[in-house]
Amino acid sequence: MELTSGARVAVVGGGPSGSLSAYFLLDLARQTGITLQLDLFEPRDFTQTGPPGCNMCGGVISESLMQKMAAEGIVLPKELLLDAIDSYVLHTDSGAATIHPFHAEMRIASIFRGAGPLGAESQHPLPWSSFDQHLLEMARQSGANVLRRRVRHLDRTPEGHPRVFLHPAKGDSSDSTEPFGTYDLLIGCVGLNGSGVRMFEEMRFGYRPPRNDRAWVGELYMGAKEVHRRLGHAMHIFLLDIPGMKFAAMTPKGHYATFIILGHGVNEEVVKRVFQSPRVRSLFPEGWETPVRPCHCQPRINLGPPVNPFADRVVLVGDCATSRLYKDGIGAAYRMAKACAFTAITRGISAQAFREGYWPVCRQMDRDNALGHLLFSMDGIMRYFSPLRRAMITVIREEQSRPQDPRRLSSAMWDTFTGSAPYRQIFQQAFHPVILWRLFVAMLRALVPGQQTDAIVSTTIRE
Ligand SMILES: Cc1cc2nc3c(=O)[nH]c(=O)nc-3n(C[C@H](O)[C@H](O)[C@H](O)COP(=O)(O)OP(=O)(O)OC[C@H]3O[C@@H](n4cnc5c(N)ncnc54)[C@H](O)[C@@H]3O)c2cc1C
Repeated sequence: MELTSGARVAVVGGGPSGSLSAYFLLDLARQTGITLQLDLFEPRDFTQTGPPGCNMCGGVISESLMQKMAAEGIVLPKELLLDAIDSYVLHTDSGAATIHPFHAEMRIASIFRGAGPLGAESQHPLPWSSFDQHLLEMARQSGANVLRRRVRHLDRTPEGHPRVFLHPAKGDSSDSTEPFGTYDLLIGCVGLNGSGVRMFEEMRFGYRPPRNDRAWVGELYMGAKEVHRRLGHAMHIFLLDIPGMKFAAMTPKGHYATFIILGHGVNEEVVKRVFQSPRVRSLFPEGWETPVRPCHCQPRINLGPPVNPFADRVVLVGDCATSRLYKDGIGAAYRMAKACAFTAITRGISAQAFREGYWPVCRQMDRDNALGHLLFSMDGIMRYFSPLRRAMITVIREEQSRPQDPRRLSSAMWDTFTGSAPYRQIFQQAFHPVILWRLFVAMLRALVPGQQTDAIVSTTIRE
């Protein structure tokens, strides 16, 4: 079962995994002399501000992803990159510590997935552009036929070829039951928000979506001057004693600060408690009240793993299959899109080909995520045992003041939130005997009355 010249491919979903799958597939096909007809279905208009144009995410791109993309010749234009983030500030209830990367090039960029938050349209013309639109345009320029249409239903012909049925176009009142097209290969890139995954479950080839949970994302308008005065060029991570929250993060993005909250079933109560936290409030301008309704959403986050995300002539890529736990989802989509395209061109499009060529890439991420789950499950210990929290801040601060030493804990923290390294490597760094010893000593010091105050309580947010 192979793709030959004239083969038809449908890509459902034009987020990063859809656009990149189309881009890599068309590029590889061209290199091997195969001409494909590729339809990409994406109902969103990424040039719109607010929910109609947004794929709901924190919008942080890891340095490793930007390097990989640049090596492939995918250079992100300046107007996509809103801020270059050069450090992290880790906030706990017991203090804060700043983490700088080892090398200046280990930077991170913040982007808007769509055309920006609701209300931003008043700044006409917008001083930035959409990340997802850029990738979609790349796919179009590679030869993808991009259709702004929502797929309603999927099935197969008796010979096993996937068929795509669309929702009627705007203004079309006919109730068409005819398929839009029959394809040789169907690539599902529908993410986890909305009913896209159900269509693939209903194809009955054994696919079950990954475990997932709701998160919270809000875009807080403060004005560029105030954003940089309060946040600098740092991403602020909050590990606070708030039940239901794993961590929260605030990222500078031009005139906005993007606030995300991750946890188990993040609801209004959790959001309220996070915004009431003195640690969080201290980053907001004096007297500034969180807008009652900033442009916000509650997207689903992949906690993995999926079951059977492939069959003969069908494969799922991106969030609806696998991702990296709590970080670098766009980077994960990039790796999977590339593996999927490479498999389809070099091995074929049977379930066996995807099992051998594509699945190992997903499995590797899923296995690493298992270690990530273990690492994040320890936040319970940290949360209820404040001396450990204080010890962590102390050790990071000590490491940061001695740049010539290997900064193992700082590096583990940096990699946890950037996606620069797998959880396996983070584990080795964080559980190195030297770090365990330093944490133990710092914890003992924190437990001795009168010993802990000067180094820890005096920690300010902007050190
Ligand atoms: C709170 C939060 C913060 C995050 N922050 C970051 C971050 O800072 N950095 C990072 O790298 N990752 C982050 N992620 C993860 C990242 O958002 C995802 O990994 C990434 O969007 C996955 O891309 P995708 O293309 O697989 O899915 P999506 O981006 O969800 O795209 C799916 C696309 O499919 C389309 N679609 C759905 N159904 C249909 C249909 N029936 N017909 C046609 N089209 C359809 C949708 O319109 C959408 O455009 C975050 C996630 C969450 C929840």
